[in-house]
Amino acid sequence: MMPERITATKISQEIVRIDTMTRERECAHYLGALLGEAGFEVSYHEFEEGRTTAVARLKGEGGKLPIYFGGHIDVVPLGAKPWSVEPFGGAILNGKLYGRGASDMKAGIAACVEMGLRMATRPRGHADIVIIMAAGEEHGCLGTHHLASEGELDRAGALVIAEPTSNYPILGHRGALWLRLVTTGKTAHGSMPEEGDNAVYKLARAVAKLERHRFNIAPDKLLGTTSLCVSSFHGGINRNSVPDRAECSVDIRTIPGHSHIDILAELSKLFGEEVEIIPEVRADAVLTDAENVWVQTVYDIVEPRLGTRPERRGAPYFTDASALTQGCGYPPTVIIGPGIKEQAHQTDEYCLVDKIEEAADLYEEIAMRWCELS
Ligand SMILES: [Zn+2]
Repeated sequence: MMPERITATKISQEIVRIDTMTRERECAHYLGALLGEAGFEVSYHEFEEGRTTAVARLKGEGGKLPIYFGGHIDVVPLGAKPWSVEPFGGAILNGKLYGRGASDMKAGIAACVEMGLRMATRPRGHADIVIIMAAGEEHGCLGTHHLASEGELDRAGALVIAEPTSNYPILGHRGALWLRLVTTGKTAHGSMPEEGDNAVYKLARAVAKLERHRFNIAPDKLLGTTSLCVSSFHGGINRNSVPDRAECSVDIRTIPGHSHIDILAELSKLFGEEVEIIPEVRADAVLTDAENVWVQTVYDIVEPRLGTRPERRGAPYFTDASALTQGCGYPPTVIIGPGIKEQAHQTDEYCLVDKIEEAADLYEEIAMRWCELS
């Protein structure tokens, strides 16, 4: 008799129970071991001690480029508001699986792993199936950037990102350019400000310029326009000194074709010498043509469950696709996963159990078609 196979829901519960805010190793090894026992080649990659990305590959017979499935296993902190359920408990109540990361995106990762376990029991198709379980996405795709820089990615034919979309296929998202702006001055006694040089005034001038600034770029039909938000501001240490340092963070979301290099040059011109600009996170925009043959196949697979042909949609957030598409030779990319996007980063985060199993079925069908097994 075949041993009973672990389901995506069960895997979701198991990995929600592992706190992966800043340490993904245990989770990566748990998932890697499941896939390794099933016949995948598994490797582990750490961009920092304990911050582990697992890569699992089921070798095909060749003849076709691999299909990649992926996402992240890290989660964001719990927030200030108390939870009414145990955030690392993985409890299921009324068809909802609760816990930090349930929607964003441990259920999506678990559905990928179940797909992998099912595919491992079948005859091999033409293409390799690669599953990326990445660390550090919430800090700017650190795990996937690390994989790309280590040369661990190969050219892919298609890429599925399992971020939360309620299993609706999404074709892209804006990129992100996160900056730190720093001004410096000279400290002095607060009673004699003329003796100092106030760094907060300099940064305040720069922030006022940003509030008025508009990028001169035509909007994208699907993804809208490039946006800019000053998201934090700090200056000074004590009440009675002239501050000699101030810094703020800026969150810019970019549409395809809006070069990060051009934006940096534009801001540097806007501020002049007074402000140092430090780019901290860069993630490219991603957008796949809806007419792409493989995208149409994904639409064919999803349509019966949706009851309608999917329309072109974009996601508000960015994903590991930014780093993976670059490292995999820009394959067509679809974002589709069981989580609910509005649940991401929320108190009492949950995912619908039905959607988790549906995602595993959809991924299996996507893999079967790509590997020419159905
Ligand atoms: Zn996410």
